[in-house]
Amino acid sequence: MAKKLFIDMTKCRECEECTVECVYDHHPVNRGLKSLLETASFQFTCRRCQDAPCIEVCPAEALERNKEGIIERALNLCIACKSCVAICPFGTLMTQFFDFKAPKCDLCNFDEMASSLRCMETCPKHALTLTEQEPDESKYIFELNDKVVVKEYAWEKLK
Ligand code: SF4
Ligand code: SF4
Repeated sequence: MAKKLFIDMTKCRECEECTVECVYDHHPVNRGLKSLLETASFQFTCRRCQDAPCIEVCPAEALERNKEGIIERALNLCIACKSCVAICPFGTLMTQFFDFKAPKCDLCNFDEMASSLRCMETCPKHALTLTEQEPDESKYIFELNDKVVVKEYAWEKLK
């Protein structure tokens, strides 16, 4: 079974600031992982508020809802003011996303033989692992793409 990157977002959220390292050729400290975290948060944590306050508060009109109802941030518009972080009532957005430089993670194009990635080795919370774990909604583990699975907080109705 092909390995995937497993990101435990519940551990990620314990960090004040992401300090993982990255081997991206041109910007070794780019922490491309952030792009994955942001995508996962908008996809799995965001409650998709009908009157999304994050969109309303953004002074740069950098946030919008896509056809699937998922919020997306335009990197070329965002001025990293973090107003959206402050106003989100669900803590969806982590301040660590909002650098001006926001490179994309290419997952180092890892293959089945890979045993470790630079981000995995340097994450102090051990939130990143390589896994054969399949998505399992009963455990709040979701597929982000064909190479990444994410464990997020559980949202449950108050009883
Ligand atoms: S951090 Fe970016 S997306 Fe968020 S409110 Fe500020 S400009 Fe808009
Ligand atoms: S305010 Fe937070 S939960 Fe609501 S749509 Fe925006 S990011 Fe999602």
